[in-house]
Amino acid sequence: MTERTPGFATLAVHAGAQPDPTTGARATPIYQTTSFVFDDVDHAASLFGLQTFGNIYTRIGNPTNAVLEERVAALEGGTAGLAVASGHAAQVVVMHVLMKPGDEFVASKKLYGGSINQFNHSFKNFGWNVVWADPDDIGTFERGITPKTKAIFIESIANPGGVITDIEAISAIAKRAGVPLIVDNTLATPYLCKPIEHGADVVVHSLTKFLGGHGNSIGGLIVDAGTFNWSREGRYPMLSQPRPEYNGIVLHETFGNFAFAIACRVLSLRDMGPALSPFNAFLILTGIETLPLRMARHCENTQAVAEWLAKHRKVAWVSYPGLPGDRYHNLAKKYAPNGAGAVFTFGLKGGYETGVKLVSNVKLFSHLANIGDTRSLIIHPASTTHKQLSDEQKTQAGAGPDVVRVSIGIEDKADIIGDLDQALEAA
Ligand SMILES: *Cc1c(COP(=O)(O)O)cnc(C)c1O
Repeated sequence: MTERTPGFATLAVHAGAQPDPTTGARATPIYQTTSFVFDDVDHAASLFGLQTFGNIYTRIGNPTNAVLEERVAALEGGTAGLAVASGHAAQVVVMHVLMKPGDEFVASKKLYGGSINQFNHSFKNFGWNVVWADPDDIGTFERGITPKTKAIFIESIANPGGVITDIEAISAIAKRAGVPLIVDNTLATPYLCKPIEHGADVVVHSLTKFLGGHGNSIGGLIVDAGTFNWSREGRYPMLSQPRPEYNGIVLHETFGNFAFAIACRVLSLRDMGPALSPFNAFLILTGIETLPLRMARHCENTQAVAEWLAKHRKVAWVSYPGLPGDRYHNLAKKYAPNGAGAVFTFGLKGGYETGVKLVSNVKLFSHLANIGDTRSLIIHPASTTHKQLSDEQKTQAGAGPDVVRVSIGIEDKADIIGDLDQALEAA
């Protein structure tokens, strides 16, 4: 009998986990310990020299976090994963392995606002320079490449929703340039889209959103696709040059198709330090067990809400790729055939004042700055996250005075629509 490859829902519950070998505990225990006892001096030496895999200190690795790493890597179809403290930490850790001061990377300008800030400002302090490209004009990625380019960074479904990126077209550009394609898959999750199947070399996540799924823990994760040749032309010295602190081993030579995940752990996480708490890993693992059920419900509810809003007399436009006629509808059918996610924006005919009244009158929706919760969430960017910008800057950032962003939860869809209905009437 040939063994069946487990399906996605089975992996979401089981990948990486087994009953605890000492106690038999069926749920993954929270290994709330900073450090781990060595068998003897030789064991310690081989752990520190990367000759043996094992636990040393929770900043570098922890058994609870290891289950989370293996589970997300399995769901994404990668070779290995690394859990870190937040989605933003995942981005810093990845770039720290790839970039030297003066290097560049090309990034889609349709990204989560926090990533735009991180790339524009904080990364500059490291001398890592972002070159912005437009996913609606793929040629801008190719034109952004220079001899200093070390990576391309995109989101699959881009936050604040409504944009589906053509991953295969951008992967072809990355391959021609000899640089890895990094895909932030936070909004899609591997349930809706698997970037590695479309040519991504590295996938990053904010676990804070749909993977954890309950709005209770910040976390991030990096998945190594195992596809990239890190030794080519010596462009990635952290992977292709001998490491003095590890007896001169060359990470790519020693660890092959999971060398990138190892480098992120033993160089970047070790030295930059954004370790994930095992308690958060436990909550996120529990969340992932129901990912397929939640995402199916999120998408079903979102489709219904978007269709209802599109017909509402106070609504000027709805930007959701699940709607036929949306400019990203065909890309959504290719990259996210089971649903275009649960985050989208719409425009109010009444502009700024109506937006403020809408978010002031919702009862079931929570007015806050997050996405990917079981609860339905709403924000009016022009009066909150983007308030400090001029009207022109707001519009450029997709946060014009009329724009409302929602993240649709898993409540009853009649209640979600009912709440928007009464708040729109009051607005
Ligand atoms: C929230 C988010 C991040 C940042 O993640 P944190 O866990 O908040 O650090 C990165 N990318 C996307 C698409 C996000 O939505």
